[in-house]
Amino acid sequence: MPQYDFDLFTIGAGSGGVASSRRAGSYGAKVAICEEDRVGGTCVLRGCVPKKLLVYGAHFRHDFEDSAGYGWSVPEPTLDWKKLQAAKDKELDRLNGVYKRLLRDSGVQLIEGRGHVVDPHTVEVAGKRYTAAHILISTGSRPFLPEMPGIEHVITSDGALSLKELPRRIIIVGGGYIGVEFAGIFNALGVKVVVLIRGDTVLRGFDDDVRSFLTQEMRKKGIDIRSEVFVRDLEKRADGTLSVLTTMGDTLEADAVMFATGRVPHTRGIGLEELGVKLDKRGAVMVDAGSRSSVESIYAVGDVTDRLNLTPVAIAEGRALAETLFNDNPMQLDHSGVPSAVFSQPPVSTVGITELAARESHGKLDVYVSSFRPMKYTLSGREERAMMKTIVERDTQRVLGFHMVGVDAPEIVQGLAVALKCGVTKQQLDATVGIHPTAAEEFVTMRDKRPDPQESAEREPGHEAVNN
Ligand code: NDP
Repeated sequence: MPQYDFDLFTIGAGSGGVASSRRAGSYGAKVAICEEDRVGGTCVLRGCVPKKLLVYGAHFRHDFEDSAGYGWSVPEPTLDWKKLQAAKDKELDRLNGVYKRLLRDSGVQLIEGRGHVVDPHTVEVAGKRYTAAHILISTGSRPFLPEMPGIEHVITSDGALSLKELPRRIIIVGGGYIGVEFAGIFNALGVKVVVLIRGDTVLRGFDDDVRSFLTQEMRKKGIDIRSEVFVRDLEKRADGTLSVLTTMGDTLEADAVMFATGRVPHTRGIGLEELGVKLDKRGAVMVDAGSRSSVESIYAVGDVTDRLNLTPVAIAEGRALAETLFNDNPMQLDHSGVPSAVFSQPPVSTVGITELAARESHGKLDVYVSSFRPMKYTLSGREERAMMKTIVERDTQRVLGFHMVGVDAPEIVQGLAVALKCGVTKQQLDATVGIHPTAAEEFVTMRDKRPDPQESAEREPGHEAVNN
């Protein structure tokens, strides 16, 4: 066996890379990790964590408003944006320190600089070469910006998280995870928000009921969602105002324009193509179920593989790899039944498959949908509603999907994800006693099936089946 400097060399100290390196270190492997930015990666520094802190910060506006219905009188609240930003940045600094300490405590050597793969067992960082038995690519993803005139004037989520001043008006292009989360943040902070989407509803890929319900709730909050709009170009005026020209010929103005038009794997310029590591058409490292690339000694986990781009998935992939390589415990992550949340206002959370996917893959279904005004808002008068949906395979009564839009949805769906993973049936849900009074109890008390669109259409010939 050749002698290498390290057993594992990881490029990219984000969630996946750090988790894998630490787990490997805990089994006595000699591990190095390189990072060109600060340790922590997208989730900790430019994604989940700062975003959620801003969601909390922004949500106070609704809480102040709601308190009046409970007898409180609160003087007109004002926001010190700089103070919120400073508090958030301080927390990110703390987490950055925690991550560095965790690496050190696991015996992982941190090397600062951009890693470049030179051969299947060598990585170069800042002019120095390191050899390793295994190389792990965990370089994450970057915001994608479509090419168009004036695109240099827009910000992405990176810029939105570090704005020096809060804009008065913002246009957000894209209605995916990031678009709807930031629309909710800016709207609650008092910014006039316009969201431009190419389809009819936000959150493509989610269940249709979730999509239409959230779109409606966001509009009720005053977010101006304009559907079927395509941006043609942008201009910056002398006074700093940005104007957005759409393909329909409309001109919209704002103080800031944010593009939330997806993310792309970060694989360019680190030597992968030269080495023959196979990338897909989006540039993602193609890996097998064990996260191994087309080059035997090179592995990849997390967003750079474009499988399920979620932090806990990257962590689980990274740990499974370390178990396999350094603990004689071959592991592969099961990518099915992974729950996720969108921290829009109200939030969305879901586990399992959509109704459309379930009809295609499982045939006859029983679908239960419930929509109600959460109890908290009965006294405050807020019009916000919640929606819950359970999709059940008719023959087996096994639950295929839980979907929720509404306050606390992510906290509720996490528990349901365990049940789904264990193969929960509708009868088992029915046999479970609810916790009263909560919104969550609705998931164990739903009784009325939604009429089956196929059967309704068959009963009324001439009517087409609609997937409502
Ligand atoms: P998404 O892929 O979720 O959404 C992209 C949006 O941009 C869609 O509305 C899409 O429209 C639109 N779009 C794409 N290309 C163009 C274009 N050329 N012109 C106009 N609109 C365009 O990406 P996000 O940037 O929102 O998020 C990236 C990823 O980050 C997510 O997929 C997710 O994996 C991760 N993430 C997860 C979070 C969480 O778990 N809470 C939070 C934030 C991010 P259309 O639908 O028509 O294609």
